[in-house]
Amino acid sequence: MLPDCHTHSRFSGDSEENPEIMIKSAIKNNMKYFCFTDHLDLDYPENDVDFNLDVDTYYPYIHHLKESYSDKIDIGIGVECGLEPHHSARLNDIITKYPFDYIIGSSHIVNGKDPYYKSYFENRTNKEAYIEYFDYILRCLETCSNFDVYGHLDYVIRYTPYKDDAFSYFDYSDIIDEILKKLISSGKGIEVNTGGYLNGLSQPNPCEDIIRRYNELGGEILTIGSDAHKATIIGSNFDKAGTLISKCGFKYITIFKNRCPEFIKL
Ligand SMILES: [Zn+2]
Ligand SMILES: [Zn+2]
Repeated sequence: MLPDCHTHSRFSGDSEENPEIMIKSAIKNNMKYFCFTDHLDLDYPENDVDFNLDVDTYYPYIHHLKESYSDKIDIGIGVECGLEPHHSARLNDIITKYPFDYIIGSSHIVNGKDPYYKSYFENRTNKEAYIEYFDYILRCLETCSNFDVYGHLDYVIRYTPYKDDAFSYFDYSDIIDEILKKLISSGKGIEVNTGGYLNGLSQPNPCEDIIRRYNELGGEILTIGSDAHKATIIGSNFDKAGTLISKCGFKYITIFKNRCPEFIKL
């Protein structure tokens, strides 16, 4: 099975999963490489959830597991950083404390609100809510540079209460192209996050048209992740996503070790 490069264990504020059970699940799925990317969102403002990551406990703990299972699977140790322009320096200080393999930069909080909650969408149209999200990504790209791929680029569409108002890349192509070009020119990639399927979408995040456009613009670094918060979700819908990635023109997917991309033939 393709390598899962986006997973959460009990080191994330919204998961209770035992990391060792996750490793066993990845081995059972015949994965050769698997990466932990627990959450680091500083001063998370919504709903009293603590998304700070205790890297001083996390890194040594996962590193020990990595060594214990090294004859069965190659384990990466990563972080999913919630990017916000004003947190750039603090995030950098935390993730440079240990030699992480892989950093996902994601937008969860947009001007103090998380689109996971309905209040993000209240009193405005889908279009206004989406534009604010993509604008915020551009602002993050101006200030945050210590990451390898941008996570679930159209995360905002996962949670819209107006599911019938279908999202189309073509309605936002100017701003999305600007984001993709900036990522490509700075040597960063995107991920195909299959969590979208489990949230009622017919596509991963980002959607097929964005993945194809990234390929057309010359993007080569593409990881795949389930965004599993439970061991049973690891690798879910990877067959479907793998077919889609090939259809969009990619011949390789990427994994990261020591922050360096390695390419695996699809
Ligand atoms: Zn995320
Ligand atoms: Zn995640």
